[in-house]
Amino acid sequence: MTACRRQRCKTRVEYDGLCPKHLTKELDFLYGRLIHTRDPFCMRCGSNDWPECSHHISRERHGTRWDPDNACIHCKECHVYLTYHPNIHVEWIIDFIGQERYEALLDKAYGVRDDTGRRTYPVEPDRPALLEWLRAETGEAA
Ligand SMILES: [Zn+2]
Ligand SMILES: [Zn+2]
Repeated sequence: MTACRRQRCKTRVEYDGLCPKHLTKELDFLYGRLIHTRDPFCMRCGSNDWPECSHHISRERHGTRWDPDNACIHCKECHVYLTYHPNIHVEWIIDFIGQERYEALLDKAYGVRDDTGRRTYPVEPDRPALLEWLRAETGEAA
């Protein structure tokens, strides 16, 4: 067994010398870079104060966690406000990316609907492919 290349981590490697936890951390880091580079200020109010990578659908959902459609930059104030007002948050997201793209995110996060309208299981993302894609997009070396 090969251990993770991060210091003091003894967990078995998932991909490219990283264990599952550290691969997730690396994906989050690169994804944050991508969003911060793409959005130069808060997409809700235009402020430059405390820009944060704000997910539309919770990061708990791995299917959409690293989808560029699933986050934007919010200033800290907007981020906190939207986090505590989920209904307003959803309205804002639909305004921002449109109903169609929001529905596509829901399908990806919670599973597409079958004939009866019930959601099936979401597809697990291909993490190695995501890592390579994010490295290429951000220009970050391995
Ligand atoms: Zn590790
Ligand atoms: Zn704002």
